[in-house]
Amino acid sequence: MPSPVSDCIFCKIVRREAPASIIHEDEATLAFLDIRPMIRGHALVIPKAHAASLADLPKESSGPILETARKVAAGLRGSGLRCEAVNLWLADGKEAGQEVFHLHFHVLPRFRGDGFGVRTGPDYGRMPERSELDATATKIRDAMGR
Ligand code: AMP
Ligand code: ZN
Repeated sequence: MPSPVSDCIFCKIVRREAPASIIHEDEATLAFLDIRPMIRGHALVIPKAHAASLADLPKESSGPILETARKVAAGLRGSGLRCEAVNLWLADGKEAGQEVFHLHFHVLPRFRGDGFGVRTGPDYGRMPERSELDATATKIRDAMGR
C-alpha cells in the first residue's frame, strides 16, 4: 500500500512525476495552473512538503504560501489575462469542498461580470447581535488558547 505522500498528485507534481504548467517555484512552495480552471488563469499554490490540512501545516510554512499567492496574484494582474481583482480560496476539509488532500490556495482572477458568487451560507443575510458575535468570538478565542 503506497503512503499518502507517494500517492499524492500534488507531491507527484513537486517531484515532476506528473505534468503541470508551473508558474513559480521556490524552496518551500510551488504554483501551477489548475487542470480544471474555474476561470482562465486559475492557479494553485502549495507547500512543497506534504501537508493534508491546515492543522498539519508547520507554522513556518504558512507565510511562504501566502507570499507565493501574493506574487501569483500580481502576476495575474500584469499578465494580460482578464484580471481586475483576485480571490484566494482554501478548502480545509471535505465538508469545505477539499478534494485534493495536499493543502493548497486557489488563486482566482476575477473581473466585473465574471459570474462568480460565493456570498451564500446558512447565516447569509443575517446580522447577529453584538452579544452573539462576542459569544462566538469567546468560544474560538478560548479554543485557540488551549
Ligand atoms: P479542492 O477542491 O480545493 O481540493 O481543489 C482541488 C483542485 O485541484 C481542483 O480545482 C482540481 O481541478 C485541481 N487538480 C486536481 N488534480 C490536478 C492536477 N493534476 N493538476 C492541476 N490541478 C489539479
Ligand atoms: Zn502531497
